[in-house]
Amino acid sequence: MNPIRSIKGTHDILPVDSHNWQTLESIVRKICARFGYNEIRTPVFEETRLFSRSVGEETDIVSKEMYSWEDKDGTSLTLRPELTASVVRSFIQHNLGRQAPLQRLYYMGPLFRRERPQKGRQRQFHQFGIEAFGSENPEQDAEIIAIAWHILDECGLRKEAMLQLNSIGSPKCRLAYHDALKNYIRPNLDKFSETSRMRFEINPLRILDTKAEHEQKLLVGGPTVSDYYTDEDKVHFETLKKFLDAMNIPFNINSKLVRGLDYYSRTVFEFTSPALGAQDALLGGGRYDKLVEALGGKSTPGIGFAAGMERFLIAMKNTVQQSEESNIDVYFVCLDEAGLSTALSISNELRQAGYSLVSDPLRRSMKAQMREANKSGAKFALILGETEMETDSIVLKNLKDGKQEIIQQKNVKDELRKLTN
Ligand code: AMP
Repeated sequence: MNPIRSIKGTHDILPVDSHNWQTLESIVRKICARFGYNEIRTPVFEETRLFSRSVGEETDIVSKEMYSWEDKDGTSLTLRPELTASVVRSFIQHNLGRQAPLQRLYYMGPLFRRERPQKGRQRQFHQFGIEAFGSENPEQDAEIIAIAWHILDECGLRKEAMLQLNSIGSPKCRLAYHDALKNYIRPNLDKFSETSRMRFEINPLRILDTKAEHEQKLLVGGPTVSDYYTDEDKVHFETLKKFLDAMNIPFNINSKLVRGLDYYSRTVFEFTSPALGAQDALLGGGRYDKLVEALGGKSTPGIGFAAGMERFLIAMKNTVQQSEESNIDVYFVCLDEAGLSTALSISNELRQAGYSLVSDPLRRSMKAQMREANKSGAKFALILGETEMETDSIVLKNLKDGKQEIIQQKNVKDELRKLTN
């Protein structure tokens, strides 16, 4: 039988890589805590209509990329393709808005999109992200961007990451802009792809997202959303820029940036990294003041971002020295089957006392076990042979300087403590 392989576009995270994941995860937790954000964990599958309603029917994610199936009772279910919708669902379901005027949340976990796999694009990938509910003020936008910036900084990516910033205005501004954009495109509409023509009807702003060069050319000279900002939109955006300046966070105004999902309003942003190649977005986010209401909750403003963890790790490979330092304190070398009970008893006691300890269950020769002990990076070896068993003693060897002494088994913990303090 052919061995079974993992599904295309999914990846195992093997031990050689998992410590890098843990480093990233601990940076995210540390920075989120520094800003007073708490973790939320939601299920990996939800009702399909949650995503079609929030992300938008004609987005690539909903129209092409969701892993959906019909459950036995006929309900359509979907593996989550993004997390904002799930977090908003949970926010509404648990009345979080009533518990406190501000809810500051972060998440980490796997997502699923049936995209064409390539470097930086997988079918199961991981994101961490932030959602802040309750404030529509630009200092909240500034805080969200600052969290991203601090995480990038801790990951060694601050210098290479570039903040792309735009405001797509409030819904009122966008209605006027949509009309202007449609009027501009209409005479050439037949030159646009089927997707763009569909977007023309449903959400013309997203035509600006097009990757097709001939369409980008047709759009040059068209109206820009900033011409249609309301006075409040202008003040909001200008204030945000002022706050970013105050924090010394550089940004690039990118009027083409509209972000793929339907629910954004006003601030949208991305941090990109040239080191990533074609898939250069490290993280993206924006404000979604109407989403809670659209999903059946009480009108509550919100803003957040989502970051691709695989992309962070690719980018971090170039900047951060990966630490491979062992965290094993003791390697237990037992030379005789008769000593195994004693070995297990001492090992148990040491682990309870907080030492990390590894032993060899293959019953190999002394030479082989010592080789493993050195390879493991452990600081000490405990060696238990026939002679030691007879005298209730044990050899404690310092693997760094090679010095060793014979000590009483009952004193192992104390002797180790002396040496490690
Ligand atoms: P989005 O939810 O599409 O706004 O994506 C947010 C971030 O998730 C992007 O900036 C990427 O870093 C990452 N991302 C999105 N799609 C994928 C994917 N298929 N594979 C890996 N990372 C992804």
